[in-house]
Amino acid sequence: MNQGLIPTADAIYKLIQELNKLPGIGPKSAQRLAYHLLRIPEEQAKLLADAILSVKQKTGLCSVCFNVTESALCLICRSDERDQSKICIVEQPQDILALEHTGIYKGLYHVLHGAISPTEGVGTDDIRIQELLKRLQGSSVDEVILATNTNLEGEQTAMYLNKLILPLGIRVTRLARGLPFGTELEYADDVTLTRAIEGRQEF
Ligand SMILES: [Zn+2]
Repeated sequence: MNQGLIPTADAIYKLIQELNKLPGIGPKSAQRLAYHLLRIPEEQAKLLADAILSVKQKTGLCSVCFNVTESALCLICRSDERDQSKICIVEQPQDILALEHTGIYKGLYHVLHGAISPTEGVGTDDIRIQELLKRLQGSSVDEVILATNTNLEGEQTAMYLNKLILPLGIRVTRLARGLPFGTELEYADDVTLTRAIEGRQEF
């Protein structure tokens, strides 16, 4: 952002700076949002500020699957209507939202919180792989569905997990290749995702 003369109030400048740090928000969008927020009623601004603080203060990670939750166990892990014999492995909590939206998967999840990426310095110990293996040992799980992204990091992670899980005698499947290479799960449409889940194959 231009650090020269700032033709606006300091408070607005600070807000623009903070918004500009968000993913997908460039300087222009940050400016537009900041001036939009300036115009909305104070009550609405307060709701937004409270919502942001709440996600930081009230949420944590599920102790079993590492999904975002407001209690020790997330809603999915707590439900007795989920198929306990299947675990779907995703990179990020928002991937669960995308898969749940299709409504066809009734099993459990495990969130890795990242993918193996040597170029970005993310190793096998930096994501929740050990927790997954511990979870699988002695469990009644008979299928693990690898739903990591279809980019290089996601594929590397899937291959690594496949190597670790197969010896446990658990079936390992990967979402069908209906998903174009490079797709991030959270942006995939329902139809493509549904086909990908239904058409999952032995990995
Ligand atoms: Zn959970």
